[in-house]
Amino acid sequence: AKFSGRNKFSFFDVSMAQHALNKTEIVKHLRNSMGSDQFSIHYQPIVNLETGMIDKAESLLRWTHPELGFISPDEFIPIAEDIGLICELGDWVFRQSASQVKSWQEKYIENFQLSINISPKQFQNESCDLEEWIDFLSQKALSNKAISLEITEGVMMNEGSLTEQRLGMLKHAGIEISLDNFGTGYSSLAYLKKLNVDYLKIDRTFIQNIHINLDDQVMCEAIVVMAHKLKIKVIAEGVENEAQLNFLKSVGCDYAQGYWFSKPVPGHDFELLLSKNG
Ligand code: C2E
Ligand code: CA
Ligand code: CA
Repeated sequence: AKFSGRNKFSFFDVSMAQHALNKTEIVKHLRNSMGSDQFSIHYQPIVNLETGMIDKAESLLRWTHPELGFISPDEFIPIAEDIGLICELGDWVFRQSASQVKSWQEKYIENFQLSINISPKQFQNESCDLEEWIDFLSQKALSNKAISLEITEGVMMNEGSLTEQRLGMLKHAGIEISLDNFGTGYSSLAYLKKLNVDYLKIDRTFIQNIHINLDDQVMCEAIVVMAHKLKIKVIAEGVENEAQLNFLKSVGCDYAQGYWFSKPVPGHDFELLLSKNG
């Protein structure tokens, strides 16, 4: 027992050290890569289940470093938040998305919408100038509904704050808000009422077994009914097969997103999907 205990300890030690090294490396490279063409955006279709059309998509940030290779946003976004780079990255995602949505609206669908993920830190940090985004949209002659914002319950961690004020300002301007990863947090229902959101996105952990698990079915249907009573539309995340999709349609879910339709893809591939849309 003593021996295995020691083994365990040294194993733990090594993995911790590796993790620390990675993080320091990522920090260094992230700083140096800002503004470079190592960043890009992939787009994942969000399908309207009533019409069968792709009328929205989610913008997902990608970073491929020449030495480190592909680094997941789950890994580098928290680091960007820690070292104060999230404003710059977030602004870039917004501007790219606004320019892209403009061209797709002109070429394909008039009311096409791109949603972007916003981290709670972007709301809390005064040097992240979200107010400027509204000006940017009007300069591009875009409706404020062209870009919607995906937020998580984490934004409500500091109430009565800059966050609430800014969310109110954006909502007032007509920007639509989605509550992301719904069902994974702690006080989903309280926040749902308070945040006054337009869409809620059911987290993919609820969708995973929805075609076989009765409890998940009951919860999902209840979420749709409740959301509709509150005039909120529902988007199901992580739809990977037809059985899941059929169930979601049967309970009146409004939108679906997931590998069943398409993985997130670069702009020119997404455009191919749009050209065959409907
Ligand atoms: P998220 O906002 O929940 O995004 C959905 C994630 O689920 C994406 O991972 C997407 O590729 C993945 N996904 C979509 N459909 C399926 C499916 O059918 N099955 C499975 N297994 N996965 C699916 P991705 O692109 O790696 O992004 C991870 C997270 O990184 C995002 O989670 C979001 O929280 C964050 N993120 C990505 N881009 C940005 C950004 O521009 N700004 C900020 N603040 N966060 C971002
Ligand atoms: Ca999201
Ligand atoms: Ca999500």
